[in-house]
Amino acid sequence: MPSHAPAPTLTPTLYLSTHDVAELVRRRGLENCLRAIADNLRADFLRWEAFDKSARVASHSRDGVIELMPVADAHRYAFKYVNGHPKNLQHGLPTVMAFGVLADVATGLPVLLSELTFTTALRTAAMSAVAAQALARRGSRTLALIGNGAQAEFQALAFHHLLGIDTLRLFDTDPAATAKLRRNLQGTGLRTVACRSTAEAAQGADIVTTATADKAHANLLTADMLAPGQHINAVGGDCPGKTELHADVLRQAQVFVEYAPQTRIEGDIQQLPADFPVTELWEVLAARRPGRTADSQITVFDSVGFALEDYAALRFLHDAAAELGLGERIALVPALPDPKDLFGALQSHAPRLRAAA
Ligand code: NAD
Repeated sequence: MPSHAPAPTLTPTLYLSTHDVAELVRRRGLENCLRAIADNLRADFLRWEAFDKSARVASHSRDGVIELMPVADAHRYAFKYVNGHPKNLQHGLPTVMAFGVLADVATGLPVLLSELTFTTALRTAAMSAVAAQALARRGSRTLALIGNGAQAEFQALAFHHLLGIDTLRLFDTDPAATAKLRRNLQGTGLRTVACRSTAEAAQGADIVTTATADKAHANLLTADMLAPGQHINAVGGDCPGKTELHADVLRQAQVFVEYAPQTRIEGDIQQLPADFPVTELWEVLAARRPGRTADSQITVFDSVGFALEDYAALRFLHDAAAELGLGERIALVPALPDPKDLFGALQSHAPRLRAAA
């Protein structure tokens, strides 16, 4: 018998594939999923100081970026692997693909391994809606959606369900993307208006979401397009050298961010000096600092995507999958009768190793 205490029983890691998450969304309903993720986001942002936070680790290449996004509290550790390759569409691949892990801090045991491509779109849309609930003018009904790609339906439906948006003004440089978006939103109750430019789409909109993908300082929204009181939800400027808003838009606005150390590197505010004043959203949610202070004020949520949002989403997936009995238990780490005898466990799977050794 080994001399050490017996190892705790290992619960195999729960694995959620893209099929499992699609089934989860079908059974729960998209609106309920968005609402539940939004609730988790609010709850986790209100526990801001309980988390060990860092800016994500980015590996840049000519056409894109691959990022690792870790965060932890005293109980759970989460990380997401995510890429951003705007030219992927030419190769029949999405711009953004992701997966992630939720682990037990006390033992390091991976509890959940999940797809996060669908889930990133859900959590980004839920995050945008949570920010807009805090920052946009009350009674906002019209959303301009610039960039009608993979994230767009999720954004549209989160704003519809969580804010009461009823009209979309759409623009994409690719008219087929706008046609796809309108097709997918049929029957949702949202009125859609296709526009010929960003300026036309922004006209008369209460909220403007930019969710384009281009590895460039794009300046697609300029100060002359703004109207007093608009809220700008800037989603696509999320990487060094990749921005959507002209710097004057930011200068005219009150700017809110997820986690300032990361956003100063990756967000639209990368164009401005390091001491440009911003407010972290958690401070507004916790009523520590004001959000919008006047109906005429222009507010910007300079979103880049922060690890805590994936933690909140992974928490949602884990709970919902358990309730619905979805997913598969996989042997991601070995269950060892004697935790010191890793070699012995390997041999029991491959007896020929014994001879080789
Ligand atoms: P996508 O490639 O599927 O869609 C982008 C769309 O933008 C395309 O339809 C493209 O034709 C359009 N576009 C490009 N340049 C444009 C321009 N100048 N004007 C109008 N339309 C233009 O990408 P996606 O998955 O929808 O992601 C959109 C952006 O959001 C990406 O930049 C991605 O990195 C970012 N993103 C951010 C977060 C976050 O948390 N902030 C999360 C997910 C994705």
